[in-house]
Amino acid sequence: MDVKFLGATETVTGSKHLVTTDNGFKILLDCGLYQGSGKESDVLNRNMNFEPSEIDVVVLSHAHIDHSGNLPLLVKKGFLGSIYCTPPTLAVVEVLLYDSAKIHENDIEYLNKRRLEKNQEPLTPLYTSKDVDRCMKHFKTIPYHADFHLNPEVTLTFTDAGHILGSAIVNLKLKHNNDKTSRLTFTGDVGRYNDLLLKDPEIFPQADYIICESTYGDRLHEVDIDAELHLLNVVRHTCVEKKGKLIIPAFSLGRTQEIVFILDKLKNNGLLPNIKVYVDSPMSTSITNIMRENVVCFNEKLQKYIKTDADPFGFNNLKYIQDKVDSIALNTSKEPCIIISASGMMDAGRIKHHLANNISDPKNTILVVGYCTPNSLGGRIREKQKSVKIFGEIHDVKADIEIIDSYSAHADYGELIRFLSCQDTKLVKKIFLVHGELESKIAFKEKLMKEGYEEVIIPYKSETFILK
Ligand SMILES: [Zn+2]
Repeated sequence: MDVKFLGATETVTGSKHLVTTDNGFKILLDCGLYQGSGKESDVLNRNMNFEPSEIDVVVLSHAHIDHSGNLPLLVKKGFLGSIYCTPPTLAVVEVLLYDSAKIHENDIEYLNKRRLEKNQEPLTPLYTSKDVDRCMKHFKTIPYHADFHLNPEVTLTFTDAGHILGSAIVNLKLKHNNDKTSRLTFTGDVGRYNDLLLKDPEIFPQADYIICESTYGDRLHEVDIDAELHLLNVVRHTCVEKKGKLIIPAFSLGRTQEIVFILDKLKNNGLLPNIKVYVDSPMSTSITNIMRENVVCFNEKLQKYIKTDADPFGFNNLKYIQDKVDSIALNTSKEPCIIISASGMMDAGRIKHHLANNISDPKNTILVVGYCTPNSLGGRIREKQKSVKIFGEIHDVKADIEIIDSYSAHADYGELIRFLSCQDTKLVKKIFLVHGELESKIAFKEKLMKEGYEEVIIPYKSETFILK
């Protein structure tokens, strides 16, 4: 029995790990996309380094594209088995995969136009919506805490990871040929304690082997003691004092609902000024509807909240915009308002139009509520550059730029150690660190050794380890 690390070893994307039992049953844990534009990630995504038709089952920890985004290609290349995930993950991953296919199709269409001018052969997208249609037929759901037999020798149990809606810790019980059993736990991505919407990461059964994420293995999150008040002050300053527009770029999954929920609370407490709020992103609207259908996944505080306000993601004055026409109409409106739009990194989606229209007016404010890679449009705005290029045109940045950094879906190292504290360190034979930059993994390894873990391993790509 062994585990081979096929992705998310040198980087935080491309999550993919292969477990092979004594009898040759192959379980692929996640099938994520390497993210980042350019040839390098495209080559990594197209060459999987294993034969998809030989994989028996896939177990998906959660819907994020760096964990799920290469499933359509896996199916396209001959995978015939089932893909197991929690019911909310299925609902979310469907939205994300179709969106991902659309991005690949659009990118290639753009590239091919230029190639045609140079008389070069056209390229094909990584996958299309039709490939996603085929992929979706392979999904099967298993609720949290149910013991499910993948085959007579492997039992799968999902526990809540508290990272995004549907996210799970993957717990496998694997029977060896000599009747001994090994327990392997794959954390996927671990969420935070006291999240606004979701439950805390759950304790999980004692494991012999753990594959653990380490995104923030070297960092503690900043604590904004009152992020709600901070947001309210930005709203008041922008929409009441300056009579301008507040533009909030936010990821469709998670961050958008968190911001809307805070506004909902402010509204219920009579603190929100009487202004219009728009969520301008079809994907955010779809995901919010999925959230509404999965209230059981909310934490206790939110469960209590919905007893007095059945819809934490809706109030008078809040409008979810689907039609492009309504989105464009916001450009000419002079009314003060809040516009929440995707994507969070500001490189795609309707947010680009809102930025292009509003960033040069000092009356307005751009509120950044999450991490943006430095080379993204969001990264340049975060750095408060004097001018930025949007759709090929230079725009002077005259709007106020505000940053609230307390939102994150990933546990920091303190929270990761708290999450792992349910384990008897002496019984854990090996803990493998994945999904983090090298310095983060090295720092986290030291911390785990201090906690008493004897063998903490930073696997490199394609490295295989025997599970005894
Ligand atoms: Zn994730």
